Amino acid sequence: MRVYELAKELKMSSKELLAYLKDLSIEVKSHASSITDDQAEQVRGFLSEESGDDVAPAPTESSGERGVESMPDTSGDDAGMVESKAEDPSPVQIAEQEPEEEVEVEQSGPSTIVVKGPIVVKSFAEELGLKPNQLIAELMSMNIFASINEKLDFNVAGRIAEKHGMTLEKEKKAPEPAPQQQEVEMPAKRDAGKPEDLLPRPPVVTFLGHVDHGKTSLLDHIRHSHVVDGESGGITQHVGAYTVEYNDHVITFIDTPGHAAFTNMRARGANLTDIAIIVIAADDGIMTQTREALQHARAAGVTIMVAINKTDLPSARVDRVKQQLQQEGLSPEDWGGDIICCPVSAQTGEGIDNMLEMIILQAEIMELKANPKSPARGFVIEARLEQGMGPTANILVKEGTLKVGDAIVCGQYWGRVKALINDRGIKVRTAGPSIPVKCLGLNNVPDAGAEFEVCDNDRTARRIADERSERRRVSQLGDTQRTTSLDDLLRDTEATEKVELKLVAKADVQGTLEAIQHSLSEISSEKVTLTVILSGVGNITENDVILASASDAIIVGFHVAKEPGVSGLAKREGVEIRLYSIIYELVDDIRNAMTGLLQPISRKVVIGQAEVRQIFDISKKGRVAGCMTIKGRITSKARTRVKRGDEVLYEGSASSLKRFQNDASEVREGQECGIRLENFSNFEVGDIIEFYELEHVAQQL
Ligand code: GDP
Repeated sequence: MRVYELAKELKMSSKELLAYLKDLSIEVKSHASSITDDQAEQVRGFLSEESGDDVAPAPTESSGERGVESMPDTSGDDAGMVESKAEDPSPVQIAEQEPEEEVEVEQSGPSTIVVKGPIVVKSFAEELGLKPNQLIAELMSMNIFASINEKLDFNVAGRIAEKHGMTLEKEKKAPEPAPQQQEVEMPAKRDAGKPEDLLPRPPVVTFLGHVDHGKTSLLDHIRHSHVVDGESGGITQHVGAYTVEYNDHVITFIDTPGHAAFTNMRARGANLTDIAIIVIAADDGIMTQTREALQHARAAGVTIMVAINKTDLPSARVDRVKQQLQQEGLSPEDWGGDIICCPVSAQTGEGIDNMLEMIILQAEIMELKANPKSPARGFVIEARLEQGMGPTANILVKEGTLKVGDAIVCGQYWGRVKALINDRGIKVRTAGPSIPVKCLGLNNVPDAGAEFEVCDNDRTARRIADERSERRRVSQLGDTQRTTSLDDLLRDTEATEKVELKLVAKADVQGTLEAIQHSLSEISSEKVTLTVILSGVGNITENDVILASASDAIIVGFHVAKEPGVSGLAKREGVEIRLYSIIYELVDDIRNAMTGLLQPISRKVVIGQAEVRQIFDISKKGRVAGCMTIKGRITSKARTRVKRGDEVLYEGSASSLKRFQNDASEVREGQECGIRLENFSNFEVGDIIEFYELEHVAQQL
């Protein structure tokens, strides 16, 4: 039987049961793992014996609510249990250690951990008062496998801290250059809450995955089949997310599926999602955007589940999808791994109830909690100006309870909450943790992803908003943008102990990408660790920039171009993009940055320039640039880069160089030629195609 089934029978949470199983040395991975009948019987026996001995039963702090008295009296084989106790001291020890453990949790009380550098498992465990292996086990229950010296994503660490009644705060960076600025007044004082104030909150779920695999259909099906009818006369209101009730549990689904929206919000600092469900069509299997979605979800540190959709189709092959998942490093739990995979059909509804049940179980394991009594805080999912209502913001409450009449500051705007409308179109007075509502009363339309917080009064809210918009104005004037660049990284290495360099790597073909990853993985450095958060084939897209921005990564492109709009966005987001045409040049740059050696081992020597005069769409293989060699000479073997003004759009090589209709190996100054490049054809008249060779400089070892 499954762990959660036994938990249900024993009227305890799966988390509690998992703790018992661990103490009984029964190895299971998750609540969905199977155990044998004998093992189930062993647990029943152990528990009934414990209750008979009147020993406090619970190894976890939350189990006090569920008394062991209510458990079925399944008196097991006592003699056997006594024997096993004698051999293995752990059950006895638990009984003795429990009170201590409980006290420890309570004593820790509400406090804040200020994060200065990277959050490393070992030291973070110390801060939490845990042993490293306890923390590692907790991480595993969130499907995150980290070793003792590994670094944790801020959000992941935040969630763990929350579980232990603590809050995590990034150390404030040096003050922004806001002239004559006093400290910005903080909104209403927020008590993270005593552990007993923290109550379970609904999980927030987002569907991600490849286009057409059924994200929207699943959202629609769940919404129509599980929203309680009659509450609203059937009129659902679009508030950016909606809640459903299943088996007395509430689940919140974000209404905008897809990793672009997901990461866009994250780049703005809005980490709303607890569980990302990767939707994979059973007939199609894992596709490009599925991989991308996985990488986005992993970068965000959210818990991952999988929905294998379209199982109604005759061409559906669920096992093949599981096999592919395995290859991606996601082991399905029914194959002995820890990723919950739910076969579903958005068309027939088959499997959807099971998926909801799995979400609830997953949420239970994650112990999502918030303090509903504190002043509210949360994020804008989307906002607009609506006729007759003024600015409306669809928001999701993260912490506390938002009430009509509250003074709030939201990004650089403020207001007094005039009305709250829930996802059923009903006006409500309050909205608690994880609940989405439409909020009326702000003085302007805030950005998607903006954070809102309740303030003590209107005056404070207005002042904070004014100060923020002044800051924004000043920072825009001075064009002071946060940037993540290799140079910054080097500078930072002096300040902090060890720095993580995160990369988004794009290349023209999979083989090259693998070669790059392999070469990068061989670089080791005392100061810097390297993590490739996304690697993919194809041009650099806006999504890549957003992901890099959300994760403080830099983008490296190999034989690829930037899609339209990418340069502008990268500039606004302060993301560095580096284009390369040879692997070792890329690897050297990274190595140099990582080891602190800046001596280049190769230097680019420009041998000639051609200007694009005309563009021909004559070839199936891509557009040809009709050029004039304006300087030096160009050769078919040289490396090329395309420049538009000061900006480099492409680095790579020419796939053909022609004089009239004939292939040419060299074209001299003043001569015309036709140039076709590998993976770049987005020419504009006036672009300069630069040809260069690499001059090698002795490498310093
Ligand atoms: P999204 O792009 O991931 O949001 O995908 P959609 O929800 O728009 O679905 C894409 C197409 O697949 C639509 O034509 C749906 O009707 C169809 N579709 C979605 N789910 C199922 C399913 O479970 N079974 C079948 N047969 N078709 C489905």
